[in-house]
Amino acid sequence: MGKTYDIIRYHVAPPLLIVGFTCGVQLLVLVGAGQPATLSVALSRCWGNTFSWTAVILLLKCAALSLHAPGPSKYGPHSSDKSRPLYTLNGVAYYVTTLLAFSCLLALRPDLADAIHQSHPELVGTLNLVALALCLWLLIDGKRRAQSDDPPRPIMYEFFRGMELHPRILGVDVKQWTNSRVGLMAWQLLVIAFFIAGVRRNGFSAAAFVTMILQTIYLAKFYYWEWGYFQTLDITLDRAGYYICWGCLVLVPSLYTFTSNYLVTHPPVATAPQAAAALVLGLASVLLNYRVDYEKLCFRTAKDGRCHLWGRPAQFLEAEYKDKQGRVHRTRLLVSGSWGVARHLNYTFEILSALAWSLPAMGLGILPFLYVIFLTLLLVHRVYRDEEKCQQKYGSSWQAYCRLVPYRLLPWIF
Ligand code: NDP
Repeated sequence: MGKTYDIIRYHVAPPLLIVGFTCGVQLLVLVGAGQPATLSVALSRCWGNTFSWTAVILLLKCAALSLHAPGPSKYGPHSSDKSRPLYTLNGVAYYVTTLLAFSCLLALRPDLADAIHQSHPELVGTLNLVALALCLWLLIDGKRRAQSDDPPRPIMYEFFRGMELHPRILGVDVKQWTNSRVGLMAWQLLVIAFFIAGVRRNGFSAAAFVTMILQTIYLAKFYYWEWGYFQTLDITLDRAGYYICWGCLVLVPSLYTFTSNYLVTHPPVATAPQAAAALVLGLASVLLNYRVDYEKLCFRTAKDGRCHLWGRPAQFLEAEYKDKQGRVHRTRLLVSGSWGVARHLNYTFEILSALAWSLPAMGLGILPFLYVIFLTLLLVHRVYRDEEKCQQKYGSSWQAYCRLVPYRLLPWIF
């Protein structure tokens, strides 16, 4: 069993996932743009065009510039390899400035929204080429610097997983650049462009507005909370490679934006009261997702874990772990507040948020729900990935936490 699992994990899954996702998104965005989703059309779009290369290079440059701009900076948490990256903390300024600049462009040239929607396959093609080239560079450069205690793995697995936790290029932290500054900003700009393209094509729709505004609130929250993002698994566990960097550079602007994209060519049929109900569900879910992440951040940054949650002093379990050098460290696992209800309640609200901004597309088939379906699979897989990591790291303390808080996502169910 162990050997079969290793063959699948190291040899079979990486090439299948790389080919499947890289080609799959090119076909998906053709559906969104209302063009024939055939291999020959996808091939003709995947090299990009002048518009897509200009837009992508502009976004990559602005994102890199934002990381060199003056502003506060702070060291992130210690990683398993003991490195401690320095992050630029001007996410809100970058978000607001970029949105203002984009709004001015749209006010001057409203047909820009139509151009973005029509050229979305070329935009994703360009991002695909840039992301694959970057991942190749990360593999070559990472192999040069590979640490001696890192066992060599099949090349496709290393390309997929990445080599280094916190690589830098020209003084820029690669994951902050690709994930936070390019991928999520592309998501934001695209959903606004798709909404405006939809209004210009079909007139105003409350349902399409709710889909756009919920994602905008979610993304504004992300930039407000950017410091918290540097404590998450994307940063502390996942190495810079295809999985996380390609994911943020290509999958986010294609699959994550798909509901908004689809609504341009398939006008929503949901009524205004239905859209309002989705808005309420979405607002509550985004807020509660933030609240769960916030409770852990407060607890982990408070001296000796002393903080109040839900009006009471936080309760916790003492835990210890050994780093790669065998040194023992002490930490705490929170067992009260949201972290006492289920072990990954933040994922539950993340899924509900995505469901809420997909619901205005009800009545249009399964396609606009692709993102929430994908996210559910991704987060359920992530639950197991994270728990395997925590079990290895904390051993009996993690088992004690699982006994105290037996549910993963939904109390009494899972
Ligand atoms: P978490 O924020 O849940 O972090 C998990 C880590 O938290 C564990 O590895 C452990 O790390 C620590 N931890 C676990 N239990 C406890 C506890 N009881 N007390 C204290 N620390 C604990 O996971 P993610 O980093 O995956 O998610 C962060 C956010 O990003 C969430 O809001 C999630 O929904 C969102 N997200 C969104 C995705 C998307 O594609 N839309 C994808 C993935 C995440 P340690 O080693 O520090 O103890």
